[in-house]
Amino acid sequence: MSERFDGNFTQQEPLSEEAIDAAVRVMQSGRLHRYNVLPDEVGEVCELELEFARYVGARYCLAVASGGYAMATALRALGIGYGDRVLTNAFTLAPVPGAIAAVGADPLFVDVTENLTIDLEDLRAKADQASVLMLSHMRGHLCDMDALLAICDLHGIKVIEDCAHTMGAKWKGRPSGCDGVIGCYSTQTYKHMNSGEGGLLVTDDPEIAARAVMLSGSYMLYGKHPAAPDPAYFETIRYETPNVSGRMDHLRAAILRPQLKTLDQQIERWNERYSAVEQGLRGTPGLTVVERPEDEFYVGSSIQFLLLDWSAPKVERVLKACFDRGVELKWFGATEPQGFTSRYDSWRYASPQSLLQSDRILGAIMDMRLPLTFSVDDCKLIARIIRDVVSQVHQSPE
Ligand SMILES: *Cc1c(COP(=O)(O)O)cnc(C)c1O
Repeated sequence: MSERFDGNFTQQEPLSEEAIDAAVRVMQSGRLHRYNVLPDEVGEVCELELEFARYVGARYCLAVASGGYAMATALRALGIGYGDRVLTNAFTLAPVPGAIAAVGADPLFVDVTENLTIDLEDLRAKADQASVLMLSHMRGHLCDMDALLAICDLHGIKVIEDCAHTMGAKWKGRPSGCDGVIGCYSTQTYKHMNSGEGGLLVTDDPEIAARAVMLSGSYMLYGKHPAAPDPAYFETIRYETPNVSGRMDHLRAAILRPQLKTLDQQIERWNERYSAVEQGLRGTPGLTVVERPEDEFYVGSSIQFLLLDWSAPKVERVLKACFDRGVELKWFGATEPQGFTSRYDSWRYASPQSLLQSDRILGAIMDMRLPLTFSVDDCKLIARIIRDVVSQVHQSPE
């Protein structure tokens, strides 16, 4: 009898009692809107902003309605608008080009390497075509950030970091999201902290922070933002900046604050699970493990491996056989977008582009979430199943 796994790949852990109690207190107060606070009260949203700014070492922080909203706000705060081009990763998820399209701009895709990071050669080649790079640390893979910043500095490109999968990660000890001009995070259920929906934006630039606060829908209440710059910075910005409401509320902030306190412990648990799968997959014939650079501290909340240059029918046999044994792999090479997975060529609102290197790699990427409801033993079992299936299909005729 071959082994089967019966866990649920989309089941997160329950919220802690502390988070639930904090949420109940907010609901009992009736004050859910971020500006609805008593005269001596800071409020859950401001507390979260202060704590998150401290966690990543940023000067300013703004809590918003979603990660996608944070990214669109970042672009608007940099003055990106209709007809502008924005560099971004060919390997990412739909909210990234979606945020670019939301401000009327056009995504210009940059190739992905076998390490699943942005191709710096291709970035260099396209560097004179845009003034902003929306850098997606897709699935938690950090590129050589020093090399990337050198290219962007040379060409005057401002970097927005999409840290939906790198909250808590670091490059050479620097928290992800603080190398660029703006860092954007998501607190949607499948990310590293769970408030259902939600986002955070950080920056050290006071003018950008002031614009982001105004954009998020602060009316003239920007003085009620202890994690924002001094009110003097709003002097003219408050007249120039449209209100595009997307605030966070106290209920979400209340359940996020206890999660931030335990984030580093959760990261250790994710990384134990990640390395159990990684070790179990190493040496499987036909399968390429994605090697992680020494300078990267990653959060193993998902894992990817490559079936490089396999035919589509063989990849499909792997997907089906794993699925039949309870292991849900996602494939970035499918011709039709499915579930959360889609490719750059299915985002047809963007100008048509052809990236041959990315096509080869996307066609090889197998992707799997590792929720913390899985035990380390579950992860070892999952790896044995994948190993078994991949070895069998690899040996079999076309
Ligand atoms: C989830 C996600 C986002 C945006 O997050 P939302 O909060 O769902 O808007 C951005 N980038 C990537 C890579 C994501 O996976």
